[in-house]
Amino acid sequence: MTEIQERGPLDAGSEEGARLLGIAADLVVRHAEGVADGPVAPAQPGTAWIREWLDGYDFHAGRPAEETLPEVMDVLRRWGVHTTHPRYFGLFNPTPTWWGVAGELLAAGVNPQLAAYSHAPAAVEIERHVLRFLADRLGLPATTEGSFTVGGAEANQTAVVVALTRRFGSYAEHGVAGLPGRPVFYASAESHLAWLKIAHLTGLGREAVRLIPVDSAHRLDLTRLRAAHRADLDAGRTPFLLVGTAGTTGGGAIDPLPELAELARAWGLHFHVDAAWGGAVSLSDRLRPLLAGIERADSVTVDAHKWLSAPMGAGTFLVRHPGALARSFRVTTAYMPAPEAAGDPYTTSVQWSRRFAGLKVFLALAAVGQPGYAAQIERDVELGALLADRLAEHGWRRVNDTPLPVVCVADPDVGALGHEHSVRWHDAVAEHVVHSGQAWVSPVRLAGRPAVRLCLISHRTGPRDLEDVVLALGKARASVSVVR
Ligand SMILES: *Cc1c(COP(=O)(O)O)cnc(C)c1O
Repeated sequence: MTEIQERGPLDAGSEEGARLLGIAADLVVRHAEGVADGPVAPAQPGTAWIREWLDGYDFHAGRPAEETLPEVMDVLRRWGVHTTHPRYFGLFNPTPTWWGVAGELLAAGVNPQLAAYSHAPAAVEIERHVLRFLADRLGLPATTEGSFTVGGAEANQTAVVVALTRRFGSYAEHGVAGLPGRPVFYASAESHLAWLKIAHLTGLGREAVRLIPVDSAHRLDLTRLRAAHRADLDAGRTPFLLVGTAGTTGGGAIDPLPELAELARAWGLHFHVDAAWGGAVSLSDRLRPLLAGIERADSVTVDAHKWLSAPMGAGTFLVRHPGALARSFRVTTAYMPAPEAAGDPYTTSVQWSRRFAGLKVFLALAAVGQPGYAAQIERDVELGALLADRLAEHGWRRVNDTPLPVVCVADPDVGALGHEHSVRWHDAVAEHVVHSGQAWVSPVRLAGRPAVRLCLISHRTGPRDLEDVVLALGKARASVSVVR
């Protein structure tokens, strides 16, 4: 037997740690400085090239990290859509703030375990402090509880489990098979379709999701909702949840929350508001009224990794009923520390071992405060309005109706040539812009109607970037032939 050394093979020592973190920090800063000079997206996905590069890493032996780190950064730079680019007018992937990035580093280095309270009281209290702040901005009561999630999909899944547990006494023990009638829930046809996955994995089945058609402003249509609810009762189904979306993913519509709150109360349904990205406007006193009605929600989803510009992996779920999370997720085991009066996070979350996701949100809030966020969010809204104006001046017709900075536009002349043609043309225009590397925009269908979608989400985006994307769209429009 060889003698066991004092230091383990993976212990590279703190000097090496400092050196590597220095290299990594330098690479990240240089990436931020240079990203705007390159294309927003690669011309192709580069799969063959990436796999060939990976063949050099068979892991038979180690290689110096100072060589690997720059290689990885280079590969990431060449082969990926740059969500941190100022002309990424994309899905809700913001440029993370530096405070958030620093928070990631601290969380990884200290690596607190957020399963048991006793393991990480400081980390748990920091997260709860942030959750209470968000709840307060949304107008939810002081007794609101919550948990950090990986993202909005997990937060929405949490909502379904909590709603089922609140509504049906037998659900915890006997699952959906033990329910009196087959349950259904309601969300708009423009809602985020993670609802289908959630229905699948909670055992409700995808069929249990009632996607209610929208009105002309792409908001959940109340008349259709009432009819669907009536039909479900007549068919012996058991509605248990009503979802309002505050900021749809496609067009930024805000469902009529006060009316939905009223119907949910009258019908005895759990009222959940999915404000994954739209919830951020609650940080602005001026814009907060857009979310009127959210304060009546039983539960709310807000993603900090969307408009609050935290690095990926920071969703939140908030629920106004104390104990509702614990009733949904509590388990006691012999190997976990004795339950804490303060509440162990693993008993109020889908997750067990959990990363300290709240720190990056805390650090950004600590640095700029609510006024700093309000200023950024109000600026984004103004830039969105400016973008809509500039596109209108260039003959684009806006097809969505929202004060939020998502602008969906169509070419009215192409629209007149028929649906199929219009779909192909608008898809091709978005693709042309992406291929040009000048900007990233996406094709979208709003209530079936094709359009090009531009969303303002990066704090690096400024007025000049708007001119550039308007130009790129103009070029695409001139290049994509009308009859294909
Ligand atoms: C993004 C989004 C989700 C899903 O959130 P993830 O963080 O991607 O899991 C859910 N609902 C809405 C309205 C969204 O915009």
